Amino acid sequence: MVKDKIKALAKEYKSDIITLRRHLHAHPELSFQEYQTSAFVEEKLKSFGITQLEKKADTGIVALIEGRNPRAKVIALRADMDALPIIEQNEVSYKSTNSGVMHACGHDVHTASLLGAAKILNGIRDDFEGTVKLIFQPGEELIPGGASLMIKDKVLENPRPSGIIGQHVMPLIPVGKVGFRKGMYMASADELYITVKGKGGHGAMPETLVDPVLIASHMIVALQQVVSRNASPKIPSVLSFGRVEALGATNVIPNEVKIQGTFRTLNEEWRAKAHVQMVKIAKGIVEGMGGEVDFEVRRGYPFLKNAEALTERAQQAAISYMGEENVVDLDIWMAAEDFSYYTQEIDGCFYRLGTRNEAKGIVSGVHTPTFDIDEDALEIGAGLMAYIAVNELKS
Ligand SMILES: [Zn+2]
Ligand SMILES: [Zn+2]
Repeated sequence: MVKDKIKALAKEYKSDIITLRRHLHAHPELSFQEYQTSAFVEEKLKSFGITQLEKKADTGIVALIEGRNPRAKVIALRADMDALPIIEQNEVSYKSTNSGVMHACGHDVHTASLLGAAKILNGIRDDFEGTVKLIFQPGEELIPGGASLMIKDKVLENPRPSGIIGQHVMPLIPVGKVGFRKGMYMASADELYITVKGKGGHGAMPETLVDPVLIASHMIVALQQVVSRNASPKIPSVLSFGRVEALGATNVIPNEVKIQGTFRTLNEEWRAKAHVQMVKIAKGIVEGMGGEVDFEVRRGYPFLKNAEALTERAQQAAISYMGEENVVDLDIWMAAEDFSYYTQEIDGCFYRLGTRNEAKGIVSGVHTPTFDIDEDALEIGAGLMAYIAVNELKS
């Protein structure tokens, strides 16, 4: 049976896939600068005998693995390749050698897993009908998102896949398990950059000043009503401010205060309304208190919706591959992912790969300097992706 074949190959290639992941982990590159990573992926694909490949969006790669009757159906598998500006604190043999850059979101795991899946699938081409399209994309971590650039560069054309599968590490889920969610899964994310301008001066003479610190404080509190009063309670929304910069002193009121925040939700119509409402409230408060405000909303990724039928089939494939007890249901997750751009074009399924191992002390979250994974996850990451693809081509 093809499932047993895939399982056996995933086991056989496991140590190779770990080696690939460790190489990628030791050589991380920032978003849209994945030149070495891209060359590495290309070289590996060619070494597996996968020669139908093309560069996209500068550092991205798309490749085809054709089974029997290649145009019967096309399914895409996606990995992201970029790392983050974080100084790694793990003391491991494969620690980052690129100072200040770290694979702290597991994109090394996604890339190595997809390379593993590619090697497996290329070895069993006679066992499936249709084509698997491999997508290695740049820049997931940075607006405008590598996915949007890959789509602009026609990654979903010629041939057009009927669906796309992506996986992401999840340090909350123990290694050996995976998680799925049908429908709404991840949030849209917009960046907020606000400057409140007043008139600074000596802190002892407030009557001669327009204090931007006090104005900004009122504005931050007032903006929360967008979430508590304007948003429907049925639509998840988050408004958070993580940076407030007022460079005065005990007795110095500054001229301006700079604020940065994020707005996230799961509904495009409400998202657009919320942008207007936030600016309106900010202007009302700030101008009412005698100041001025610059309010920039930098649009990030849209929400991510997993296609019902495709996700159901992928989840059933996972149950058949790993056993029901190892496939969990996911809750809504208010982080954002540029995989959402693909799901606006075609059916998508974005699932989670468990990487946690408390016994080994592997518990750190993504985007932290101590993030790591239990590498047993790579055998599943490669094998399951290959199996989901074959299963989907059969459906
Ligand atoms: Zn990330
Ligand atoms: Zn990520």
